[in-house]
Amino acid sequence: MSLTEINSRLAQACADAGRAPGSVTLIAVSKMQPDARVVSVLNQGQRIFGENRVQEAAGKWPGFREQYDGIELHLIGPLQTNKARQAFGLFQSIHTLDRPKLAKTIARLAQETGHCPRLFIQVNTGQEPQKAGVMPEQADAFITECRVLDLPIEGLMCIPPTEEEPSLHFALLGKIAARNGLSGLSMGMSGDFESAVALGATHIRVGSAIFGARD
Ligand SMILES: *Cc1c(COP(=O)(O)O)cnc(C)c1O
Repeated sequence: MSLTEINSRLAQACADAGRAPGSVTLIAVSKMQPDARVVSVLNQGQRIFGENRVQEAAGKWPGFREQYDGIELHLIGPLQTNKARQAFGLFQSIHTLDRPKLAKTIARLAQETGHCPRLFIQVNTGQEPQKAGVMPEQADAFITECRVLDLPIEGLMCIPPTEEEPSLHFALLGKIAARNGLSGLSMGMSGDFESAVALGATHIRVGSAIFGARD
């Protein structure tokens, strides 16, 4: 597949859902992809990318930023508090805020630096023990806690369990966001982004369908 094809499928999904064409942000997930593939997608005009590890992003994106203007990076993988400062310098958005300790660290860094990446709270909609994210029944309280800390919460993010129907999880995430007055929904990947768009996704995270399979 290719960037062009994903963009046209995204446009079609928006049309089918009666949504404006520009209402969904495509995040091209470049984790573990060879540089040549990333360069090719940059040369096709894509500027919004997702990485799941701070270290990997720190290794490859400063170089690309010297060559291409307007790059916007989203952190979509777990963030350790001791990497938060480094993440502040690299990412315009963090999709994986999921615990009070991290929220407090981010709030402190925001005070200190005078800026803050846009934030999504990750919700473990499948309640999977091995997966990151706040449990659905704790989401409301955690959102409130983040607001008390004055954090710029843009919305919620989820990664549905692989063996379950993703639309149930997208719908649940949308419900939690709506009752908390949050408009951002980071959901949908290569295999299910059309259904995420139908259920209100504002940010889809597509990797292999754009770049090809990862090693
Ligand atoms: C890797 C990853 C993606 C992209 O997955 P694809 O199936 O390659 O589209 C999306 N979201 C998260 C959190 C990821 O880690």
